[in-house]
Amino acid sequence: MRFDGTLITRTQWGAAPSQGVSRDFVPQGVTFHYEGNAGTIDPPDHDSCAGRVRGIQRAHLNHPTEDYNDIAYSFLICMHGVLFEGRGLGVRSGANGTAKANRAFYSVCFLAGTRTPVWPEMAAAGRATIHYLRHHGAGAQVNGHRDHVSTACPGRALANWLQADCPAFPRRNATARQRLEWASGWFHDRPGSGGERGVGDFPGAQYFGPGANNAYVTQLGRMLIQRGAGRFYTVGPGPKWSEADLRATRAFQQAQGWRGEDADGIPGPTTWRLLVTGGGRDI
Ligand SMILES: [Zn+2]
Ligand SMILES: [Zn+2]
Repeated sequence: MRFDGTLITRTQWGAAPSQGVSRDFVPQGVTFHYEGNAGTIDPPDHDSCAGRVRGIQRAHLNHPTEDYNDIAYSFLICMHGVLFEGRGLGVRSGANGTAKANRAFYSVCFLAGTRTPVWPEMAAAGRATIHYLRHHGAGAQVNGHRDHVSTACPGRALANWLQADCPAFPRRNATARQRLEWASGWFHDRPGSGGERGVGDFPGAQYFGPGANNAYVTQLGRMLIQRGAGRFYTVGPGPKWSEADLRATRAFQQAQGWRGEDADGIPGPTTWRLLVTGGGRDI
């Protein structure tokens, strides 16, 4: 089975040759990681992503204490949802923290910092990667680096995604159908189907309103501008919630014919869905 998305091979991203490959690998599942660097939460230009992967490989090959013979990760996923081949299929991983975990789990690293939210593209690529690796015999388990050793990796946002949103993970409160889907390894990314979270679903009210400061606010502003809200933004849009976001959102809500509380200037699931899908009326 091919990867359901864009896969950049080692040759395509310009990998240095591996200095040794171990196939002592009995994969039982997938372990997720993040880069974990501080800094901007907005996705960088995708043109820089291959260079970032080369930089990680270089750093691993030159690591002062770890005796890496290649980039440590099996695969990497950039913020744009593109999958980069690391060590690749069937090769023992080097990033999971213990020999046991490296022998038993693929390691997949998101090119995400400590403040990066789980962008819809990342979530979709993460699910597709699990699906892809399972088809190649990875086994059913899904976890994070911190499930193997004491570490913050893969960070709070991705850990929450694994526990709450990732349909590959058997949630404690999952419905019978969700458990069945999980058990059969079946995934889908369509919003609104099966009661699961999909690409483009509303991230949650907590990401918006006074005091909010995150990449969804930027995404909201960009989507609103596409729908005719340009005049509200003398600066931005940006991650910090502003009066412009409030007024632009309200104008969009009013354009749908909504009044009162329905046009309070804070996006809810319906506002978000219309913006993501391009539905409803422009401002
Ligand atoms: Zn990690
Ligand atoms: Zn990218």
